[in-house]
Order: sequence, then structure tokens, then C-alpha cells
Amino acid sequence: MNTSNTFFGHPIGLRTLFLTEMWERMSYYGMRALLVLYMTGAVTGFNPGLGWSQVESQAIYGIYSGMVYFMVVPGGWIADNILGHQKAVLIGALIIALGHFTLAIPIEQTFFLGLIFVVLGTGLLKGNISTIVGQLYEGQDDKRDSGYTIFYMSINIGSTLGFLICSYLGEKIGWHWGFGAAGIGMAFGVIQYIKHRHLLGDAGMHPNEMPDDKRKKLTTYLKVSLVGMFMVIGAGLFGFFTIDPRFFAEQFAYFLTIIAGLYFVYLFLFAGLNAAERKNLILLFLLFVGAAAFWSGFDQSAGSLNIFARDYTDLSIVGYEIPVGWLQFANPVIVVLFAPIFAGIWAQLARKNLDPSLPIKFAIGLLFMALSFLIMIVAVNIALESSPVGMQWLLLTYLFQTWGELALSPIGLSAFSRYGPKRYMGQMFGLWFLASAIGGVLAGLLGGEALDGGLETISPVFEFMIQYYLVIAVALIALSFVIKTAKD
Ligand code: GLN
Repeated sequence: MNTSNTFFGHPIGLRTLFLTEMWERMSYYGMRALLVLYMTGAVTGFNPGLGWSQVESQAIYGIYSGMVYFMVVPGGWIADNILGHQKAVLIGALIIALGHFTLAIPIEQTFFLGLIFVVLGTGLLKGNISTIVGQLYEGQDDKRDSGYTIFYMSINIGSTLGFLICSYLGEKIGWHWGFGAAGIGMAFGVIQYIKHRHLLGDAGMHPNEMPDDKRKKLTTYLKVSLVGMFMVIGAGLFGFFTIDPRFFAEQFAYFLTIIAGLYFVYLFLFAGLNAAERKNLILLFLLFVGAAAFWSGFDQSAGSLNIFARDYTDLSIVGYEIPVGWLQFANPVIVVLFAPIFAGIWAQLARKNLDPSLPIKFAIGLLFMALSFLIMIVAVNIALESSPVGMQWLLLTYLFQTWGELALSPIGLSAFSRYGPKRYMGQMFGLWFLASAIGGVLAGLLGGEALDGGLETISPVFEFMIQYYLVIAVALIALSFVIKTAKD
């Protein structure tokens, strides 16, 4: 085999996507780790923040995270029908870089504009790049799964770099340096993608076939929607209307839930699915609920847990005060270390015919999430007695959350592509990321409520979260006995 034309035995195009996703996630997680610290930071001092309240800031963080993943849905539609996936990724990456550079401008007025660019760019990039990964493996299902595993590594290498660089620069030098570093990271990704895009060959090159006049019509719809959207955004940015972040986040959470619900109902009743496809759809619905709940805890890392790290955790290591964001290293590092172990465990169990079904794996993910917040409640109780607490509490919390992630996230992505109705394949990534969107916005709402009254109000919210993880985990386990169709 000519190894110079492969990437760890995979099509060489995977390298292009790996590096693009790595830099995109570097910028995404690097900036995200600074976001609530910047918004809630004191307005005076050497590195002044915006001085906003916890409730507002966490809600904005939630809206941002929710929007990022929600935009994957229109991003997929645009790629499928108008741009093709390759071009969508390129344009998305450019817009993301523009967003981070806008955030790097050291004035408050451009803050929301920068976030909006990152949201729109990520919508074009995140789902579509995942789709191209799949297209590199036409007809080779087994290889495709391991391709996605390698791709998942790029996400975590990227976020490690992001925490390392952006948190250091943003917290120790100045917020806008951290945002700028995220922009430079994304720019590396753009350059790399332009240089090596040809290695993707035909994968993701062309949009769906359709008559020219139909495409023209869809393009016109898109242009009109974009103009409308920018008029609304512009009016908001110039102060023609104001939005209460918490109220908006709440409405957005309802909106996303209704959209997801309607989409499942539509697929179930009106999409002409056969009985087997319908059974699989029920399974996907259960996984969807599990995933949304899971991300609502997972996304606390850059929200309430980030604040817990800043305000109530001792961050000194041999006399050096590490940046707050560095604690979030734990997640990607543990993913890289444990992903092979988890894969090995599933493979061992499969050999004995004991590989857990998808709902059981999701339930395991949620049980780990519940455990992680139990640890946090212990940490909060200790902090109520004497603060700050040691960093082992957050590290242990992230260890359990990451074990949960490994039971749920890489598997979820491939489950949606494998068990989704074939004719709706292109939309399955959008659906999967819609669960992340709901999780993200809930994370902001719950995080704000948790921090509303300082340390005292944290535990009741975390207890509530533990309860719903347990309820959904038990429901998934119970239903896994009934819904077996899709287990392979
Ligand atoms: N950590 C993964 C990523 O960044 C999954 C995130 C999510 O779906 N919420 O791609």
C-alpha cells in the first residue's frame, strides 16, 4: 500500500478534514472557555470584563451554544441544495475566522457581531464537515466508523490547543488576545483546507442534483432569508430593540424542542417510512432525548463550572496560578486516553455477545453525568464551609463527564447516520446536533439559575439535574427491552 496517500490507513482526504476540524474546534472551545469569564469579569482591574450578571451571561452563553448547533440544520440544507459540502465548509471556516477577529477588537460594541459570525460560520462548517467524512467511505461501513473515531480525536486535540493558548492569552494578557488567537487558529485551518481540499476528490463536491431553475429558486429564497436575517440582526445591534437574554433563552429552548418534536412527528407519520424505519425512528427519538439531557450537563464546563473554577477553586500549582480554562483540559485529554479503552471494552463485550444496546450506552452516559454532578455537590458543600476547594473536585467531575461522553457521543453520531431513514440521511446530522442545541441552551438557563445566589443556589439546581438524568437513564434502560430493532 502506498502509505503516502493514506492517513493512518484511511483515505488521505481524512487528513484535510482532520486538520480543518482540529483548528475549528481549537477556536471554538478556546473562545468558549473565555466567554462567561469575560462577560461576568469585573469592569475594573488589569483585564476588565463586561461586568454582566451571572443570569444574563449564562443565558447569552446558552443562546450562543444553542444557536451554534441549531445553525447546523440550515447549514446542511444550504450545502445539500446550493453550495455542496466542500464549499460550505470553506465559507463557514472563513466566517468563523472573521467572527473571532471581530471579537478580538477591544470594544464592547462588536461583541455580539463577533458571536453571530461564529454561529453562522459554524452552522456551515460543523455538520457538513462531518458529512464529508462519511462520503470518503462510499460503501465501506466498517472503515467509516473508525474514520469517525479518528475524526473525533481531531476535535479533542483541537480543544486542548484552544484551552492551552486562548485561556492563557485571554486570562493572563487580555481577553481580546485570546479571541484573536482563536481567529489565528481558524485562519490556519482555512489555509490548510484551501491547500489540501483537492485531496477530498469528489466527496462533498456537488450539491444534490436538481433542475437549474429549481436551484435558482432555492438560491433566491436563501438570499431573501439572509437579507431579512441581517436586517433583524442589524436593527438589534443598532439598538432598535433589546432582548432580555433569559427570556429569549427560554423561548429559544421551547422553539428548539417544538421544532425537534415536529420533525420526529413528520418523519414518523408523513415521510412514507416502512415499519422497520419507524421502529428505528423511535429508537433515535429516545437517543435524542438522552443526548439533549446529556449536553445540558456537559456544557456547564464553560458555564457554571467555569465560574466555580474561577471563584471557588484553588488554581495554584507550585505557586503558579493556572488560567481558569486550563481545568477544562481534563475533558479532551481524557477522551484521547480513554477512547481506545472504551472501544476495546465494547469490542470485548461484543465478542461475548454482550455489547450493550444503544439506549443502554446512552443510559450509561447519563449515569456518569449524574455521578459527576454528585461530586460537584460534595465540592459545593465543602466550599460552603471553606472556599476555595482543591481542583481535584472539578477534575473528577470532568473525568466522569468524559466517560459519559465516550459512552454516548461518538456512538450517537454514527447511530443517526446508520439508523436514520435513508432518504433523509442528509438531515440526520442536523437532527443529532439539534439535541446539542437543546442541551446548550438548557445549560445556559440552568447555569444562570445555579449561580444566581452565589454558592447557595448551586446545589438545588444540580440536584434537579441529577434527578432528570436518572429518570431518563431509567426510562432508556426500561425501553431498551422493548425497542431492540436497531441493535446490530
Ligand atoms: N465535543 C464534541 C464536538 O465538539 C461534541 C459536542 C456536542 O455535540 N455538543 O464536536
